[in-house]
Amino acid sequence: MRVLVVEDEVKMAALIRRGLSEQGLAVDVAGSGEDALAKAGGGNYDAIVLDVILPGIDGFETCRKLRIDGVWSPVLMLTARGALEDRVAGLDGGADDYLTKPFSFAELLARLRALVRRGQSERPAQIEVGDLKLDPATRQVWRGETEIELSAKEFTLLEAFMRHPGSVLTRTQLLEQAWEYDFEHRSNVIEVYIRYLRRKIDVPFEVSSLETIRGAGYRLRKDGGR
Ligand code: CA
Repeated sequence: MRVLVVEDEVKMAALIRRGLSEQGLAVDVAGSGEDALAKAGGGNYDAIVLDVILPGIDGFETCRKLRIDGVWSPVLMLTARGALEDRVAGLDGGADDYLTKPFSFAELLARLRALVRRGQSERPAQIEVGDLKLDPATRQVWRGETEIELSAKEFTLLEAFMRHPGSVLTRTQLLEQAWEYDFEHRSNVIEVYIRYLRRKIDVPFEVSSLETIRGAGYRLRKDGGR
């Protein structure tokens, strides 16, 4: 899951970024509305956290422009305490939800998950591929009836595979799902995590669902390995 945080206050942006990263999310930060429009133009963010108070164009205007640009990533607005007008303006401008500052991190995370579940289009609450099942909201994974414990990064990678069963995902695509852009791309981190995942979702069940496609990437079999 990939999130864009739009906040000019460096400390606040760093705090949100760290908290979300610890949950296994890939987080990019934009320091202004203009920066956000440039970054979100590709449209590949699962959600956008957008502060109202920004230098240059404010959060409302940023949100409005995003929608005009055809960016439909769910937007969570951060507004000032008690500013009812802000909340109304935010929702009118195309935001999907709002959170009043100061907020608890747990609430930010819960709201984000709810938004991502709702998605840019309808998404099922749980994803199933063969007898593999994944719940993005509760971050649980099962093979058949057996629940599997995954680390945050392992979960994020498996979610990417389960959203694209039968498709080859390149190392770059996988890196983008789970790590920030400035991550050291030359490392073999994906290979390592694929090995971890296989040890958890395949080996104990004597199946092989995660296939290596030489020279291309990796693929989760549509039948989940059975
Ligand atoms: Ca701000």
